[in-house]
Amino acid sequence: MTFRHSKIRDFLPPLEAIRDPWIDTLLENPALIRRQMEEHGSPLNIHCLMPFARNYQEYASVFAAHQLRHLVLFARKANKSTAFVRAAASLGFGVDTASFRELQQCLQLGVEPEKLVFTAAIKDQRSLRLAIANGVLIILDNRDEWEQVRTIARDLGVKAQLGIRISGFEVDGEKLYSRFGFDIEEAYREITTMFAGEENRQLAEFRGLHFHLDGYSTRQRGIALHGAMDLAIQLKAKDLQTDFVDIGGGFLMNYLAEKSQFEQFEFELKSAVRGERPPLTFKNDGLGYEMVEGQLQGSLRVYPYFNQRPRAIFLEEVLGVSNEAGKTVSDRARSLDLEIRMEPGRSLLDQTGITVARVAHRKKDSRGDLLVGLEMNMTQMHSSSADFLLDPIVLHQHPEKKEGPVGAFFTGAYCLERDVLLKRKIHLEQVPAVGDLVVFLNTAGYMMHFFESEAHLFELAANLVFDPKSQRISPDETASFA
Ligand SMILES: *Cc1c(COP(=O)(O)O)cnc(C)c1O
Repeated sequence: MTFRHSKIRDFLPPLEAIRDPWIDTLLENPALIRRQMEEHGSPLNIHCLMPFARNYQEYASVFAAHQLRHLVLFARKANKSTAFVRAAASLGFGVDTASFRELQQCLQLGVEPEKLVFTAAIKDQRSLRLAIANGVLIILDNRDEWEQVRTIARDLGVKAQLGIRISGFEVDGEKLYSRFGFDIEEAYREITTMFAGEENRQLAEFRGLHFHLDGYSTRQRGIALHGAMDLAIQLKAKDLQTDFVDIGGGFLMNYLAEKSQFEQFEFELKSAVRGERPPLTFKNDGLGYEMVEGQLQGSLRVYPYFNQRPRAIFLEEVLGVSNEAGKTVSDRARSLDLEIRMEPGRSLLDQTGITVARVAHRKKDSRGDLLVGLEMNMTQMHSSSADFLLDPIVLHQHPEKKEGPVGAFFTGAYCLERDVLLKRKIHLEQVPAVGDLVVFLNTAGYMMHFFESEAHLFELAANLVFDPKSQRISPDETASFA
């Protein structure tokens, strides 16, 4: 079979991912990966814990430099592997859990209850019981939860530990919408009512305030923090001591090596949507851009895969936001002796995982494009943004440039026309062969786990942990909790 038809006539802009050295070490030894694939099938999620520790240290040193009490809680929903829970426990930071099983596993793995938080959007009886019985902090979202917490605390004879989620902050004259939490304008009344009287205070302890904002604005987070601190001062007058403010997650990380590549991609994408060049995405998907009455409209609806303010810089920006009196978040939190908590998911997982799949077939579609079928499906590497804008790497069994370069789409195993793993057409130096391995980089944060499903009764991908020192790969123990 030849693929001359799909030889590149048109420029496909590269988007090279930042790649931690452990990944190169591993990819130099494809036999190691192949042995695991023989045992566990395709695809494989392979993790490494070293960057996890480093990412945590980055946050911890910002807080240390500001002399702020702090607690970082890893948002477990971003990855299912238990290895990260164990690592958080051994490095001394916490875990944010959002379901019964997330919480139960963390307790079984020996995470200290004081370093756990339960933030589930829907809190059923048994998860509230589990949290209260173990003294785990619950972030309260509404009055119905409050009633159930009271009942269970009374029943168990254990005082519930509570934080209150707040939302609806006003930024530049506009209220930030959220379906979660108590509105900031009503929070004072709600909290003082809930904790009014001896009986209520026997049943539950008010510990602090919590918010989690959509998007990636540091200014909004700073303003929300000032709002929370204003509220803390008001509550103190009612004998309600706020020990912490938890600022949730959504801290940026950076995926791409070159700003210019990201800009070039967007430029070429816009040209393609205008019809000025051949498509560079599946069905000329504009990833947020579209033509409306002959005009290009919209914007790129993807994660800011390239950005210059990841992690520590982002946190510094939040801590540096001033209120109207000119006081920064950092200054005020220190003088109130407030603990700042945060719940990063994605940004703690930066560079901690890859997804590897085996090539099953190559073919030509009805448009003449090269499709490379992989032994995996669209839910095993799924971004909630319009596309995952990182070039994968192909590990060829026989690296020789017989046919190429080519442009290709990677397709998955679900019986849907739209099971195309990346919407971008990818520039490949060589046509992959059956049995070659395709490596998707930096997939640990959400990409590999959040949307994975078992349609067609396909098994979920195995989760493995690579130790670069010993060059060993071992299974994550998620499986033992099945
Ligand atoms: C999703 C979520 C997080 C984690 O967000 P990241 O973007 O992964 O940092 C933290 N806290 C809450 C309440 C969340 O809903």
